[in-house]
Amino acid sequence: MFFLSGTPVPSVMAADSPEAVRLLSVAVQAYYREDYGAAKINLERALERQPDFSEAYLLKGLLQHHDGQNDKAAASFDRALKLNPRLPEDLRKRLEERAHAIEGRLTEQDFSHFHVQFNGAERREQAWQAVKHLDDAYRDLGSRFGVYPPIRFPVIIFTSQEFLEAWYAPMWLGGFFDRRDGRIRVRIDPPPGGDDEYRRRLRHEYTHAFVNFLYKKDLPVWFHEGVAQFYSFSSASNGFWKANRLDELAKLTRKAPWMEIGRMEEVITKKNASPLVVYLAYLQAEALVLYVAKERGDSWIPSFMERLRGGMTFEAAFLDVVGVPPPQMLENVRRFLS
Ligand SMILES: [Zn+2]
Repeated sequence: MFFLSGTPVPSVMAADSPEAVRLLSVAVQAYYREDYGAAKINLERALERQPDFSEAYLLKGLLQHHDGQNDKAAASFDRALKLNPRLPEDLRKRLEERAHAIEGRLTEQDFSHFHVQFNGAERREQAWQAVKHLDDAYRDLGSRFGVYPPIRFPVIIFTSQEFLEAWYAPMWLGGFFDRRDGRIRVRIDPPPGGDDEYRRRLRHEYTHAFVNFLYKKDLPVWFHEGVAQFYSFSSASNGFWKANRLDELAKLTRKAPWMEIGRMEEVITKKNASPLVVYLAYLQAEALVLYVAKERGDSWIPSFMERLRGGMTFEAAFLDVVGVPPPQMLENVRRFLS
C-alpha cells in the first residue's frame, strides 16, 4: 500500500542473517494465518539468530498489541525504529540492484493491458488470477474516468519470501507501486481475507499506477492512498459497500488520536511514527476520500482529476469540486466518525 515517490524504500530491514530473515518470514505468514503461537516461536528464533533485527521487533510489537500488552508493544516499536535508521543512498542502491537481479530471473507474460512477471510455472495460475482482477480494475476505472491507458502496465507478483528477499520490505505490505520504475508489485501468498483481500491489494496498487498515468506531477500522498483504498473496496455488486466501510472505519478509529492533515501527510510519507499511528494515518486518508464520495458522489474523484489535468492546483481543484478545503473536510470526517 505504500506509494514510493522518490523516497528511499521504506523501513528496510537490516538483517545480516538469511536464516533470521527466513524465520521472520515464517513468523509473518503464521501471523497472517492468525496462528499467533507459531508466530511467536519463529519470531523468537529469528531474534536469537539476530538480536538487533529491527523488523522482527515490529512483529513483536504487533503480537504484544494483540495480547493487550500495549506498553510492551510501544517499547518494541520504539526499539524497531531506533534500530532502523533511514538507509544511506548507496545502501539503497545496492538493495535495488539486488531486487532487480531477482526480478530479472522471473517468468514473463504479456496480457492485453499488463506485462506480468512471476516466479516459475507453478505460479502461473495465481498470475492469471491476478490479471483477472487487474483487467476488472482496468475496465472499471476506464469507464469511470473515460480513460483507457493505451499501455501495458508492468506487474511483478511475489511470494512473501521473495518479497522479503527482494525488497526487504515491511512484512505487512500487500504490495506497492513505485513511481520511479512504474511497476506494480504485489504479494500473492493467501491473505486471511482470501480472494477478496487479494482483489483489494491488486486494485489498490493498480489505482496508484492509473492515477500516476493520468497525472504525472506530485500529489499529496494522503490523496493517492485514500483514492487507492476507495477503488480497492469499490464494488459494483454491493450497493452498501460505502456505508459498510465507513462503519468499519468508525470502529477502527474510535478512541484513537486524530491527526491534522499536515501530520497525517507527514506520517504517511515519512513513516516517522509507530506502525499503529502509520496505520491510523492511512485509515484517516481513506475515510476522507470515502466521506467526500458519500457527500458529493463517486464522480468527485474523476472531476477533480480532470481539473488537475487541465492545469488547476490541488487546492483550487479540491475547493472547486468539494466546496471546502481538505483540512476542513477532514474535520467534518472526524465529527462524522466519532
Ligand atoms: Zn498505497
